[in-house]
Amino acid sequence: MRNLVRENILSMKPYTASKDIAEVKLDANENPFNLFKDLKEEFVNIIENLELNRYPEIDNQCLGEKIAEYAGVKSENVICGNGSDEIIQMIIHSFVDKDDYIVIPVPTFSMYKQYTEIGGGKVLEVPTDDSFNVREDEIINIANEKRAKVIFLCNPNNPTGTIIKREKILNILNRTNSIVVVDEAYYEFLDETIIDQVNINNRLIVLRTLSKGFALAGARVGYGIGSREIIDIISKVRSPYNLSSISQALGILFLENVDRIREKIKEIKNERSYLIEEIQRLNGIYVYPSGSNFVLIKSDKAKNILSACGNEKIALRGFSDSYTNNCIRITIGKREENDKLISLIKRVV
Ligand code: PMP
Repeated sequence: MRNLVRENILSMKPYTASKDIAEVKLDANENPFNLFKDLKEEFVNIIENLELNRYPEIDNQCLGEKIAEYAGVKSENVICGNGSDEIIQMIIHSFVDKDDYIVIPVPTFSMYKQYTEIGGGKVLEVPTDDSFNVREDEIINIANEKRAKVIFLCNPNNPTGTIIKREKILNILNRTNSIVVVDEAYYEFLDETIIDQVNINNRLIVLRTLSKGFALAGARVGYGIGSREIIDIISKVRSPYNLSSISQALGILFLENVDRIREKIKEIKNERSYLIEEIQRLNGIYVYPSGSNFVLIKSDKAKNILSACGNEKIALRGFSDSYTNNCIRITIGKREENDKLISLIKRVV
């Protein structure tokens, strides 16, 4: 069997996430509030009328229109994906051939690299500075030198929470010829966007998802926003019926209830300030600034914190590569969850 497998796949590891049963789940950047509980009855009415013997809408038209309204663009500027992961994959399929380059600042979200390498493309990693800020000149130089097809910028960045200034993004866009993907998966927690530029520069694609701010990770609804030209290109590689009727219906329902979602986002942002203030008071822990629904901390006692959390069934995400050694990413939870974590960290440090 192994001799049949493509060489670049043999050495790869599948994406994994912790399967430990956690009582306090602060490891996956999810929204702690299950808004589906409030919307369940409406959803039951909707699915009663779904014709599940039929295929879903082929191009997610109704969902695309709702997204367009929310994002302030036309529906021709929207492509829907089975999670924004699928859109990353579609972008790579559309632009990155074998031995083509992409550029990413590091550390960043792992799937840009993973999908590129699956396709036989090459990844140029540009380290961020000590505060995890993107080094724009280095990115521009290497992208131009290697004629990179795509540059991925994650704003705010996962796993660091770092915000990339608008001028930096525009500079990278204007001084290169690459496709520039700005991943705004955590947009709702930052409230800054570059979407207004998609019809000014047709090489820009903005990625968003309903998995984070919209509390809908289980439904797998992501989207991309770009010029009509770029959306038409990416649409060529989209699988037919890529979102189930159920996911489309859930996406529409949640977008129609954006006000409820905004209330919860406000609460999460307050909890973010609370958690950061509480942890900053402790000796020996550095908290990186965050524009997201998680914070990255650094401590010599990171391993002790993680093992104490494991014992108490609190799930966090530890990092140990050369950029994020001794770092832990904490997703913002509900007040009682954050308090449980804070008192545990206090005991350890
Ligand atoms: N982009 C970033 C930066 C992420 O952190 C994630 C999820 N962890 C995704 C994209 C993918 O999200 P989804 O597929 O759930 O839309």
